[in-house]
Amino acid sequence: MKISLSLLPLTAGLALAGCFGQTAPSDANKGQSQQASAQANQPADCHSGISLQLLGSGGPISDDARASSGAVIWIGGKARLLIDAGGGTYLRYGESGARLEDLDFIGISHFHTDHVADLPAILKGAYFLGSTHDVKLVGPTGNANFPSMTTFFDREFGHGGGAFQYLSGLAKASDGLKLAVHPADADVKASVRTLIWQGDGVTVYAYGIPHGDVPALAFRIETPKGVIVLSADQNGSRKGFVDFARGADILMMPAAIDDDADAQSRFLHATPTVVGQLAAAVQPKMLVLDHFMGRALKDKDENVGIIRRFYHGPVFAGRDLSCFPLPR
Ligand SMILES: [Zn+2]
Ligand SMILES: [Zn+2]
Repeated sequence: MKISLSLLPLTAGLALAGCFGQTAPSDANKGQSQQASAQANQPADCHSGISLQLLGSGGPISDDARASSGAVIWIGGKARLLIDAGGGTYLRYGESGARLEDLDFIGISHFHTDHVADLPAILKGAYFLGSTHDVKLVGPTGNANFPSMTTFFDREFGHGGGAFQYLSGLAKASDGLKLAVHPADADVKASVRTLIWQGDGVTVYAYGIPHGDVPALAFRIETPKGVIVLSADQNGSRKGFVDFARGADILMMPAAIDDDADAQSRFLHATPTVVGQLAAAVQPKMLVLDHFMGRALKDKDENVGIIRRFYHGPVFAGRDLSCFPLPR
């Protein structure tokens, strides 16, 4: 399968829903107007079968005309899983057509704002649902500088002093809120993957990834139609990640920095060379890049070229709302 594009435009990303593996033209950033028109042409294919849809393809800097990190997994026409909820994903969640009524699982990779800042805004919609249901919310264990998922939930929504304690009913679907959100911690230091959710033939695993000193998780979503592995920010130094991701039909990796990034950036993030080496080891059927920032977009073509020196499968640079169906 030869695909020579270095940046998948939003419209081509959506078109891909109906033509997995076909070549799409490369493109430059076209900003919000293109996103709006593409949204209006949301293809049914993204909402049938099982698909990965990016909500945000950007990073923590607001210089890229992209929402921060987040994605939904569509299963049979419903966005059942939400992975990360960075700034801007609240808006994209609605634009994607996802409905809170259908949400069963939320995975939060780590507690940098570009991965979690919009979580309260999305959950607030629970006031307006017709009926009550449960949502599992899984994130990493904490350390001295970062909370665990359960601590984060309590600090946000806890009845006795949470920042948004007016939403404390989320814990038990009370006070007019129609979601019962069940937070849990997945140990980032576990030596093997942790099973964190199962439903309707879909199984989700978490595995700790090295993101500097920030506790962080990658997620592996096994479905009847294939496997999606979403790596959040990581520097690529944990060998076990390759085994965790092996067999992926879709591997999503951040493309946050350049090969000549400083040491602190490389402590946090994988360079294009490392992303390419990881992808070459995992051998997914396709590699989707996200977590762009203005500085990474400037050298995007060069960085994708570096990745392709190591990994020879199809590489797509995701955009907000890009859709990637599982091929089987
Ligand atoms: Zn991060
Ligand atoms: Zn990030």
